[in-house]
Amino acid sequence: MPEFDNPVAGFGVTFKAMFKKRLTEQYPEQKKPTAPRFHGRHQLNRHPDGLEKCVGCELCAWACPADAIYVEGADNTDEERYSPGERYGRVYQINYLRCILCGLCVEACPTRALTMTNEYELADRTRESLIYTKEELLAGLEEGMVDTPHAIFPGMTEKDYYRGLVTEAAPGTVRQEPRSGHPGDEAPQTAASTFGPAEPASEGVTEK
Ligand code: SF4
Ligand code: SF4
Repeated sequence: MPEFDNPVAGFGVTFKAMFKKRLTEQYPEQKKPTAPRFHGRHQLNRHPDGLEKCVGCELCAWACPADAIYVEGADNTDEERYSPGERYGRVYQINYLRCILCGLCVEACPTRALTMTNEYELADRTRESLIYTKEELLAGLEEGMVDTPHAIFPGMTEKDYYRGLVTEAAPGTVRQEPRSGHPGDEAPQTAASTFGPAEPASEGVTEK
Protein backbone atom coordinates (compact mmCIF):
# COMPACT_ATOMS: atom_id res chain seq x y z
CA MET A 1 0.00 0.00 0.00
CA PRO A 2 1.43 3.47 -0.90
CA GLU A 3 2.50 5.64 2.06
CA PHE A 4 -0.12 8.35 1.42
CA ASP A 5 -2.95 5.81 1.63
CA ASN A 6 -1.91 4.70 5.11
CA PRO A 7 -4.12 6.45 7.75
CA VAL A 8 -1.84 5.42 10.62
CA ALA A 9 1.07 7.26 9.03
CA GLY A 10 -1.16 10.35 8.76
CA PHE A 11 -1.96 10.24 12.48
CA GLY A 12 1.76 9.90 13.15
CA VAL A 13 2.38 13.30 11.56
CA THR A 14 -0.35 14.83 13.75
CA PHE A 15 1.04 13.16 16.87
CA LYS A 16 4.56 14.49 16.22
CA ALA A 17 3.24 18.02 15.62
CA MET A 18 1.56 18.01 19.05
CA PHE A 19 4.97 18.08 20.76
CA LYS A 20 6.62 20.71 18.56
CA LYS A 21 7.16 24.30 19.74
CA ARG A 22 4.09 26.44 18.96
CA LEU A 23 4.65 29.17 16.36
CA THR A 24 1.44 31.09 17.09
CA GLU A 25 2.09 34.76 17.95
CA GLN A 26 -0.27 36.52 20.36
CA TYR A 27 -0.69 39.57 18.14
CA PRO A 28 -1.93 42.25 18.86
CA GLU A 29 -1.59 41.67 22.62
CA GLN A 30 2.11 40.91 22.23
CA LYS A 31 3.93 42.82 19.52
CA LYS A 32 7.37 41.64 18.51
CA PRO A 33 9.88 44.35 17.60
CA THR A 34 10.72 44.52 13.91
CA ALA A 35 14.19 44.35 12.42
CA PRO A 36 15.92 47.73 12.91
CA ARG A 37 15.81 48.56 9.19
CA PHE A 38 12.24 47.35 8.61
CA HIS A 39 10.41 49.56 6.08
CA GLY A 40 7.35 50.99 7.82
CA ARG A 41 5.41 54.24 7.77
CA HIS A 42 7.27 57.29 6.49
CA GLN A 43 8.36 60.31 8.48
CA LEU A 44 9.13 63.87 7.36
CA ASN A 45 12.10 65.03 9.39
CA ARG A 46 13.03 68.38 10.89
CA HIS A 47 16.26 70.26 11.45
CA PRO A 48 17.39 70.52 15.10
CA ASP A 49 15.67 73.91 15.48
CA GLY A 50 12.31 72.59 14.19
CA LEU A 51 12.46 73.86 10.60
CA GLU A 52 11.41 71.24 8.05
CA LYS A 53 13.93 69.42 5.87
CA CYS A 54 11.50 68.95 2.97
CA VAL A 55 12.05 71.47 0.17
CA GLY A 56 9.02 70.43 -1.87
CA CYS A 57 11.12 69.26 -4.84
CA GLU A 58 8.81 66.29 -5.68
CA LEU A 59 11.74 63.95 -6.42
CA CYS A 60 10.22 61.38 -4.07
CA ALA A 61 6.94 61.53 -5.99
CA TRP A 62 8.72 61.04 -9.32
CA ALA A 63 10.72 58.10 -7.96
CA CYS A 64 7.68 56.29 -6.59
CA PRO A 65 6.72 53.30 -8.77
CA ALA A 66 3.22 53.19 -7.29
CA ASP A 67 2.38 56.88 -7.77
CA ALA A 68 1.60 57.02 -4.06
CA ILE A 69 3.09 60.43 -3.19
CA TYR A 70 1.56 63.84 -3.84
CA VAL A 71 3.63 67.00 -3.18
CA GLU A 72 2.96 70.67 -3.67
CA GLY A 73 5.88 73.02 -3.01
CA ALA A 74 5.66 76.71 -2.14
CA ASP A 75 7.97 79.66 -1.45
CA ASN A 76 9.12 80.56 2.05
CA THR A 77 8.95 84.20 3.10
CA ASP A 78 10.65 85.95 6.01
CA GLU A 79 7.25 86.33 7.63
CA GLU A 80 6.32 82.67 7.18
CA ARG A 81 9.26 80.26 6.99
CA TYR A 82 8.97 76.46 7.11
CA SER A 83 12.44 75.43 5.89
CA PRO A 84 15.83 77.19 5.78
CA GLY A 85 15.95 77.55 1.98
CA GLU A 86 13.79 79.02 -0.75
CA ARG A 87 11.06 76.35 -0.94
CA TYR A 88 9.17 74.01 1.35
CA GLY A 89 6.60 71.26 0.99
CA ARG A 90 3.24 72.98 1.44
CA VAL A 91 1.16 69.86 0.80
CA TYR A 92 2.57 66.37 1.31
CA GLN A 93 0.53 63.18 1.13
CA ILE A 94 1.29 59.46 0.93
CA ASN A 95 -1.42 57.04 -0.12
CA TYR A 96 -0.88 53.83 1.87
CA LEU A 97 -3.37 51.96 -0.29
CA ARG A 98 -0.81 52.24 -3.07
CA CYS A 99 2.50 52.31 -1.21
CA ILE A 100 4.47 49.05 -1.34
CA LEU A 101 7.03 50.31 1.23
CA CYS A 102 9.88 49.82 -1.21
CA GLY A 103 11.85 52.83 0.02
CA LEU A 104 12.72 54.26 -3.42
CA CYS A 105 11.30 57.62 -2.35
CA VAL A 106 13.72 57.70 0.58
CA GLU A 107 16.64 57.01 -1.76
CA ALA A 108 15.51 59.84 -4.06
CA CYS A 109 15.18 62.51 -1.36
CA PRO A 110 18.14 64.92 -1.60
CA THR A 111 17.76 66.39 1.90
CA ARG A 112 17.09 63.27 4.01
CA ALA A 113 13.74 64.83 4.77
CA LEU A 114 11.99 61.54 4.12
CA THR A 115 12.81 58.38 6.06
CA MET A 116 10.85 55.32 7.15
CA THR A 117 9.91 54.29 10.66
CA ASN A 118 9.31 50.73 11.93
CA GLU A 119 5.55 51.33 12.28
CA TYR A 120 3.68 48.65 10.35
CA GLU A 121 0.09 48.93 11.60
CA LEU A 122 -1.28 50.60 8.48
CA ALA A 123 -4.85 49.38 8.24
CA ASP A 124 -8.15 51.24 8.38
CA ARG A 125 -11.69 51.19 7.04
CA THR A 126 -11.72 54.10 4.58
CA ARG A 127 -9.54 55.23 1.69
CA GLU A 128 -9.32 58.79 3.03
CA SER A 129 -7.88 57.65 6.37
CA LEU A 130 -5.06 55.83 4.58
CA ILE A 131 -3.95 58.94 2.74
CA TYR A 132 -1.57 60.39 5.31
CA THR A 133 -1.19 64.16 5.26
CA LYS A 134 1.88 66.25 6.01
CA GLU A 135 0.52 66.90 9.48
CA GLU A 136 0.49 63.15 10.19
CA LEU A 137 3.87 62.45 8.60
CA LEU A 138 5.83 65.36 10.11
CA ALA A 139 8.17 64.36 12.95
CA GLY A 140 7.21 65.51 16.43
CA LEU A 141 9.00 68.33 18.20
CA GLU A 142 12.03 67.41 20.28
CA GLU A 143 13.83 69.42 22.92
CA GLY A 144 15.30 72.62 21.50
CA MET A 145 12.84 72.75 18.58
CA VAL A 146 10.14 75.34 17.83
CA ASP A 147 7.18 74.45 15.60
CA THR A 148 7.07 75.91 12.09
CA PRO A 149 6.76 78.51 10.73
CA HIS A 150 9.63 80.38 12.37
CA ALA A 151 12.67 82.46 11.41
CA ILE A 152 15.95 80.93 10.24
CA PHE A 153 18.73 80.82 12.87
CA PRO A 154 20.35 84.31 12.78
CA GLY A 155 23.57 84.37 10.76
CA MET A 156 23.07 80.86 9.36
CA THR A 157 22.44 79.87 5.76
CA GLU A 158 20.68 76.83 4.33
CA LYS A 159 24.10 75.19 3.78
CA ASP A 160 24.98 75.72 7.44
CA TYR A 161 21.92 73.68 8.39
CA TYR A 162 23.18 70.76 6.30
CA ARG A 163 26.68 71.15 7.72
CA GLY A 164 25.17 70.51 11.17
CA LEU A 165 26.02 73.98 12.50
CA VAL A 166 22.50 74.56 13.85
CA THR A 167 21.90 72.36 16.87
CA GLU A 168 18.80 73.98 18.40
CA ALA A 169 16.46 76.94 17.95
CA ALA A 170 18.03 80.34 18.57
CA PRO A 171 17.11 81.87 21.94
CA GLY A 172 13.88 83.86 21.63
CA THR A 173 12.65 82.01 18.53
CA VAL A 174 8.85 82.10 18.37
CA ARG A 175 6.38 80.50 16.03
CA GLN A 176 5.23 82.86 13.26
CA GLU A 177 1.60 83.33 12.40
CA PRO A 178 0.77 80.79 9.67
CA ARG A 179 -0.96 82.66 6.85
CA SER A 180 -1.13 80.33 3.91
CA GLY A 181 0.65 77.05 3.80
CA HIS A 182 0.48 75.22 7.11
CA PRO A 183 -1.18 71.84 6.56
CA GLY A 184 -3.27 72.19 9.70
CA ASP A 185 -4.80 75.45 8.54
CA GLU A 186 -6.60 74.15 5.50
CA ALA A 187 -9.18 71.49 4.80
CA PRO A 188 -7.33 68.26 4.03
CA GLN A 189 -7.43 67.25 0.40
CA THR A 190 -9.41 64.15 -0.29
CA ALA A 191 -8.59 61.07 -2.26
CA ALA A 192 -10.83 62.41 -5.03
CA SER A 193 -8.81 65.62 -5.38
CA THR A 194 -5.39 63.99 -5.46
CA PHE A 195 -5.56 60.31 -6.29
CA GLY A 196 -8.64 59.97 -8.47
CA PRO A 197 -12.28 59.20 -7.63
CA ALA A 198 -12.85 57.99 -4.05
CA GLU A 199 -15.41 55.34 -4.82
CA PRO A 200 -15.61 52.61 -2.20
CA ALA A 201 -13.61 49.58 -3.24
CA SER A 202 -15.82 46.59 -3.88
CA GLU A 203 -15.09 42.97 -4.58
CA GLY A 204 -13.41 42.52 -7.91
CA VAL A 205 -12.35 46.18 -8.15
CA THR A 206 -8.66 46.75 -7.70
CA GLU A 207 -6.93 50.01 -6.88
CA LYS A 208 -5.00 51.32 -9.90
S1 SF4 B 1 7.96 53.36 -0.27
FE1 SF4 B 1 7.93 52.95 -2.50
S2 SF4 B 1 5.75 52.75 -3.02
FE2 SF4 B 1 5.85 53.72 -0.98
S3 SF4 B 1 5.76 55.90 -1.38
FE3 SF4 B 1 7.94 55.36 -1.30
S4 SF4 B 1 8.53 54.90 -3.45
FE4 SF4 B 1 6.29 54.90 -3.32
S1 SF4 C 1 10.53 64.56 0.88
FE1 SF4 C 1 12.54 64.94 -0.07
S2 SF4 C 1 12.27 64.34 -2.25
FE2 SF4 C 1 10.21 64.57 -1.36
S3 SF4 C 1 9.61 66.68 -1.85
FE3 SF4 C 1 10.54 66.70 0.21
S4 SF4 C 1 12.72 67.17 -0.15
FE4 SF4 C 1 11.87 66.54 -2.13
